[in-house]
Amino acid sequence: MLRYSRKVATFFLMTNTTTPMKILSRPHRKFAKEFHHEFRWKDDPGAGFGFECDKSGTPLLKSEPAKENYESCISGKFDVEDLGVVESERSWFEAAIGKCECGRELQLWDPLNNFCKCGKCFNSSGQEVTPSNECDEWGNPLDDIDPRNWQ
Ligand SMILES: [Zn+2]
Repeated sequence: MLRYSRKVATFFLMTNTTTPMKILSRPHRKFAKEFHHEFRWKDDPGAGFGFECDKSGTPLLKSEPAKENYESCISGKFDVEDLGVVESERSWFEAAIGKCECGRELQLWDPLNNFCKCGKCFNSSGQEVTPSNECDEWGNPLDDIDPRNWQ
């Protein structure tokens, strides 16, 4: 009985040549807080300026025009109302990250085709798949002669 189950295990290992990649990070939504120091025109309350800043209101001015506009808002050169620091939340989708057998890490953005530099292709769940351009319209691999497709 024991001998028999060992044989089954060996057979399984020999035929199961594709192992799913190790998932290092599952897909998830990320959130980040952002702060802007906002000003609006006194004669046009629907328009104004918003300068990216830290929580305490220190501006993070990345360009010369932004610096000039910020100075003009602070100094009173522009006729604007200071609305102070306004907090907002931004969110975005982060795809899963998997580790290929070759050791490379791969972000799985595409539902079907995520290519590793070693030539393997993975779906968004990290399963090794035949690239969709090598499959017919029903998802069956075109190359049935390839022994990897014999099941
Ligand atoms: Zn690889």
